Amino acid sequence: MKPGTLYIVPTPIGNLEDITLRALRILKEVALIAAEDTRHSRKLLTHFGIGTRLVSYYREKEAEKAIGFVKLLQEGKDLALISDAGTPAISDPGAILVRAVQEAGLPVVPLPGASAVTSAFSASGILSAGYTFLGFPPAKSGARQKFLQKLVHHDLPVVLYESPRRIEALLEDSLKVLGERDAFFARELSKSHEELFPGTLSTLLERVHDGVRGEFVLIICPTVPEEVSGESLEELLLWHRDNSEISVKDVSKKLAGDLGISKSKVYQMALELWQNRPEKENP
Ligand code: SAM
Repeated sequence: MKPGTLYIVPTPIGNLEDITLRALRILKEVALIAAEDTRHSRKLLTHFGIGTRLVSYYREKEAEKAIGFVKLLQEGKDLALISDAGTPAISDPGAILVRAVQEAGLPVVPLPGASAVTSAFSASGILSAGYTFLGFPPAKSGARQKFLQKLVHHDLPVVLYESPRRIEALLEDSLKVLGERDAFFARELSKSHEELFPGTLSTLLERVHDGVRGEFVLIICPTVPEEVSGESLEELLLWHRDNSEISVKDVSKKLAGDLGISKSKVYQMALELWQNRPEKENP
């Protein structure tokens, strides 16, 4: 028997027009839709005149529910996975089911569609070859500050999801731990009060200070490394070579970290300088 396929179907993150024709067809054709919250999703499906059976699939029961869905696929039934908004398995449940389906050797087909991270980054105007998406930061301040600490030397923009309840605290902690940075938020994407706000951590903080509604995507830029000329790097290396006992490896690591530049570039220069080290005069 031909096995069924698990379709991963993105749904709108605000504007109902942001569902694709393919998504609507698949949602109509499958035997069953696995949804994070069936009551929430029923409204969406009713809006589009889709009567397919919905079965709940929420985080706490993911592993347990996945077994049943794999069985249905093995019986030849096609299934769709949806979340409350956007793309399933992106800061939403789904990965456990996808993994279980893969492990059973059954087909998974992802449909492209709405996701807050891509819409926000595309509107950020941040010039970067890539970004690091980390989803929701920890909710408690201590854990959040530890999480931010790991990003101090990160050299790509970091994209975070946050709720209106915690956005101010997140910006406060970011400013405290990371210092002033270029930053951007997208709020209420695709909705009538959509707001795109480029600025710095301080100006974003000022903007949300009196309270704001809606869901946020926050993007924090890396620090711009101070231009280190070859000459000043050489001077620093020479100083370490002649005045400290630090090894070539350790000095390269330290200076690369301090200056935010490539470790291999510093190591290369350090090796040359260490090789040409003048013999120490005998006392
Ligand atoms: N799976 C979704 C996706 O593909 O984007 C994300 C789900 S996650 C539970 C919800 C978070 O996504 C929100 O707290 C917010 O950070 C972000 N988000 C969702 N919709 C948004 C919107 N319309 N505008 C801005 N951020 C949004």
